[in-house]
Amino acid sequence: MNLKGETAVVCGAGGFIAGHLVKALLANGVKVVRAVDVKPLEDWYQVTDGLENLSLDLKDKDNCLTATKGVSLVYQLAADMGGMGFIENNKALCMLSVLTNTHMLMAAQRTGVKRFFYSSSACVYNGEKQTSPDVVPLKEADAYPALPEDGYGWEKLFSERMCRHFEEDNGLICRVARYHNVYGPHGTWNGGREKAPAAICRKVIEARNSGNHEINIWGDGKQTRSFMYIDDCVKGTQMIMQSEIDEPINLGSSELVTINQLVDLAENIAGIKLNRTYDLSAPKGVNGRNSDNTMILEKLGWEPSIRLRDGLEKTYCWIEREIATSAKDKDLVMA
Ligand code: NAD
Repeated sequence: MNLKGETAVVCGAGGFIAGHLVKALLANGVKVVRAVDVKPLEDWYQVTDGLENLSLDLKDKDNCLTATKGVSLVYQLAADMGGMGFIENNKALCMLSVLTNTHMLMAAQRTGVKRFFYSSSACVYNGEKQTSPDVVPLKEADAYPALPEDGYGWEKLFSERMCRHFEEDNGLICRVARYHNVYGPHGTWNGGREKAPAAICRKVIEARNSGNHEINIWGDGKQTRSFMYIDDCVKGTQMIMQSEIDEPINLGSSELVTINQLVDLAENIAGIKLNRTYDLSAPKGVNGRNSDNTMILEKLGWEPSIRLRDGLEKTYCWIEREIATSAKDKDLVMA
């Protein structure tokens, strides 16, 4: 389906990925008429002018009707989420996103939406397939038999399933991407919800700025992951939405690194070497995870390909500027 000229609402637009998605959709000719997030507008990471920017709680059914009114496309990225430190300690809160997904699907059907995008996660995959850092990349079928990440992953798997049945039973066309660790500028970098790439960049910058050349790493540093740069994420999201792929599909990089290698890269960007300590009691998630990209290559002839070193440098520089700006703001308040 060619999405040019279609009208859209983007949900979760005050957050990281959806904030970038609004801009990319507009640049590619989709008429984003509305952006919605529960946060007050002044807390949105990015605000795009020239459309309705609404602060609404999408757990509420009536708000979902307001959000979907008059649009043909829904991009549903709103969710209570964060890195491992957040999702391991907020399982009930993460599961409450089921209200948002349920009410958004019901509203989309009622208001006659043509296509619904849902952002799922690699956290839906069976934990027993992720016990070793020496991973076999996860293919789409590995979500079953179900043993997802407790709390957050169960909610994502259930909501994926709801999309499938809204399509099968009610004819609402749904597209579902399983994102694997997305990072980049305008993402959460402090406050407890940040994920590994942003947290490590921040720690390296703080160590360099303070002259205290120490870094504490969650886990033993040997756990493996792949990280997808935001530009690949928004590109893949748009390709999946306009495709005929009617089953959940991986959207992730297949460049596997250990957390120690991620720290090596950040140190290399900063031009310093740090003494490493390891917190074995901190939340660290599964031991190893990578994206098997066979399906996306087969269906789209494309896969995320931005090198981690390149994306991390851009992210590092952005966080460095954010830290400098917040230090300046603090000085102004103190003066
Ligand atoms: P984010 O936290 O930056 O953005 C999510 C936004 O949703 C936030 O701004 C939040 O305020 C908003 N939101 C939460 N509850 C809401 C509600 N009830 N009503 C309206 N808005 C609400 O997260 P992100 O990294 O941009 O993630 C976007 C989507 O992608 C989420 O669904 C997330 O689960 C999924 N995802 C992200 C990653 C990743 O690595 N960032 C990985 C897998 C899946």
